[in-house]
Amino acid sequence: LLAAGVAAGLSACAPAGSATPDAEGDAATTCNVGISMPTRSLERWINDGEGLKEKLEAADCTVDLQYADNKTDQQISQIQNQVAGGAKILVVAAIDGQTLGPALEEAKSQDVQVIAYDRLINGTEAVDYYATFDNYKVGQLQGQFIEEQLGLADGKGPFNLEPFAGSPDDNNAAFFFAGAWDVLLPYVESGQLEVPSGKSPADNDGWKAIGILGWGSDDAQAEMDNRLQSFYTGGDKVDVVLSPNDSLALGIEASLNAAGYEPGTDWPLITGQDADVANVKAILADQQSMTVWKDTRELGGQVESMVAAIVAGDEVEVNDTETYDNGTKVVPSYLLDPVVVAKDDVESTLVESGFVAAADLGL
Ligand code: BGC
Repeated sequence: LLAAGVAAGLSACAPAGSATPDAEGDAATTCNVGISMPTRSLERWINDGEGLKEKLEAADCTVDLQYADNKTDQQISQIQNQVAGGAKILVVAAIDGQTLGPALEEAKSQDVQVIAYDRLINGTEAVDYYATFDNYKVGQLQGQFIEEQLGLADGKGPFNLEPFAGSPDDNNAAFFFAGAWDVLLPYVESGQLEVPSGKSPADNDGWKAIGILGWGSDDAQAEMDNRLQSFYTGGDKVDVVLSPNDSLALGIEASLNAAGYEPGTDWPLITGQDADVANVKAILADQQSMTVWKDTRELGGQVESMVAAIVAGDEVEVNDTETYDNGTKVVPSYLLDPVVVAKDDVESTLVESGFVAAADLGL
């Protein structure tokens, strides 16, 4: 009884969720995790943040989850507060991949381990691991979908294409565009794809000129309005829109709707990414052609394993040590596989896996 009481007393004194060093005496890290997410305005980040918090808490970690309203300064001060509050592991989905270096270097000086979540953090040594989906492949799947649906490989065309790109401060956006443009640019060059707006980067590096800063639906809508009003005056129609993600696709769809395009008749082919509920509904209503699904639960599971390995002092599993050079180091990465979802796949993928509830889709 006494022994049990002493043991109980000791464990009560230990920091919440702390781990003891293993038999070899490797340095153990307290499982105290700060999660820093970009914004609550996008469904995927809410799912990411809350899903990961739940997983880590179930594994007895102490977790502080913060959202930064897409403001870099806010994200920096939240990270600083998390470190001051005792976080020993930071999981960060950066708003601006370029600006977090100093805050993370300060964290490193206090032995904090840093995992870049979904988006790479650039220009600093102070990032230990990166967990994400294969971002180039996301774009490639969008490009290949367009190629197949339009029969481009069979020489069909010409089609009017309007390409969009993601936020210029988001490292992923370059990969999304490169993946898609490597498939599509040859067809632009052959004349099978025409870009009436002229917003057609001559190479993969030109994407920032058509990037939508902050990934906002409203800004994508305004840009599409502009293109339709300026370049589609003579009865020309848009046949296909390369949209890098669902938030942009929503804005583009609102613009097409306002311009009088009709699903099932002249509505263009539109790509997306994330399988947000609003977009899955749009897919079911023939207003969006596909989305690239990245199961955020899988990403959370991968990060949970990384955290567990760090806490235990074990080696962290990665599957890519070449692709993600942040300008200062190549960050050891774990890349997950993205999946194409079109109308016919909604039930068998999103609904059956429980990612989206049938009731939320009106099914
Ligand atoms: C993510 C996408 C997301 C976009 C906008 C990217 O970094 O990888 O899934 O749609 O940010 O939030």
